[in-house]
Amino acid sequence: MAQLHLHPGKERSVLRRHPWIFAGSAARLEGRARRGDTVEVVAADGRMLARAAWSPESKIRARVWSFDAAENVDHAFFKRRIARAVAWRASFPGLAEQEGIRLIHGEADGLPGVIADRYGAVVVIQLTSAGAEKWREAIVAALVQVTACAAIYERSDSEVRKLEGLEPVSGCAWGALPAAPLLIEENGVRMEVDVVAGHKTGFYLDQRDNRLLTGALARGRRVLNCFCYTGGFSLQALAGGAASVLSIDSSGPALAIAARNLAHNPQLDASRARWCEDDVFAALRALREAGESFDLIVLDPPKFAPSAAHAARAARAYKDINLCAFRLLAPAGILMTYSCSGGIGAEMFQKIVAGAASDAGVDACILHRLTAAADHPVGLAAPEGEYLKGLVLRAG
Ligand code: SAH
Repeated sequence: MAQLHLHPGKERSVLRRHPWIFAGSAARLEGRARRGDTVEVVAADGRMLARAAWSPESKIRARVWSFDAAENVDHAFFKRRIARAVAWRASFPGLAEQEGIRLIHGEADGLPGVIADRYGAVVVIQLTSAGAEKWREAIVAALVQVTACAAIYERSDSEVRKLEGLEPVSGCAWGALPAAPLLIEENGVRMEVDVVAGHKTGFYLDQRDNRLLTGALARGRRVLNCFCYTGGFSLQALAGGAASVLSIDSSGPALAIAARNLAHNPQLDASRARWCEDDVFAALRALREAGESFDLIVLDPPKFAPSAAHAARAARAYKDINLCAFRLLAPAGILMTYSCSGGIGAEMFQKIVAGAASDAGVDACILHRLTAAADHPVGLAAPEGEYLKGLVLRAG
């Protein structure tokens, strides 16, 4: 096995169990390693620190598989890690009963670059690192054994693969997808998941708890759901007894699924729902001009800032939509506003939203601070894995 020697002092983050070794920490590679191969990580004083996946093209030059420098990275390793990730979720309150659940959340589950989401009998994987790519077969085999699923579909088509020098890959990795549309039940609402062409692995599982909270807050309210995708927040709002729900998204295919989702839930009053295919930035202004107002507004935009480099432009976009939302909010209205941008921290997001409220002349207070659901854990040693933050605000 090749050895990756670190510069003096650069062992500290590994000793704190941070799983990324940046190019600037790597002094030299002794021996030969190809992309994705397992290497031993060695401190400048010769201490063996970890075993990691080598990724010569990425700024993250290696990702730690194991902080036990003697642990073999082989089929059994993946079986153990995957079984552990699946097992704690299977007994965790609020997760155990979910048909749609994230089974593996990368670094936080000890599997850098590996995402696995379960939608009923189908598991969708996304492999985003050189090491994960190398071990595809072992990961698929372990998931088949551990989950007893009917099919594994691969959606390794995320842009981040390019940073590791990997091409996009998608298609069935094991078994076959069912012919009928894939449906999951989420907190009493049936949702269709398009694992082949939907966003991410087909669905935004991270917002599950926050959608439920929207339902709890929606009774009797006029709800506006911006960036609605397939209608997750909208349907929970209807289930919670919203007076009306207007949902906006720019994606026609997402709205087509949203309309079908309403049909999958005949218990909901479809006459209270309206769908609108439009750009949210323009639609919010048009609603203001039309003199509309709402009692509960959800803003769940796409990632405006994938990294800190995009933060300034993203901040303007967040400010803009939040400002427009505050102006549309009726007295005592509630705004649920989110950012899933890794490049914008929770503190900065709160400042942006505060600036928007102040420009809109609205006094608001924070009722809840929200994050992703528990099946998307954040490693304590690697807090940069945290991306989703939300604020529930009450306008004065
Ligand atoms: N709230 C959703 C997830 C939202 S994902 C859920 O719970 O499932 C972000 C959505 O924003 C995507 O559906 C995308 O199509 C949409 N979108 C991106 N830019 C947009 C824009 N400028 N105007 C309207 N919708 C946009």
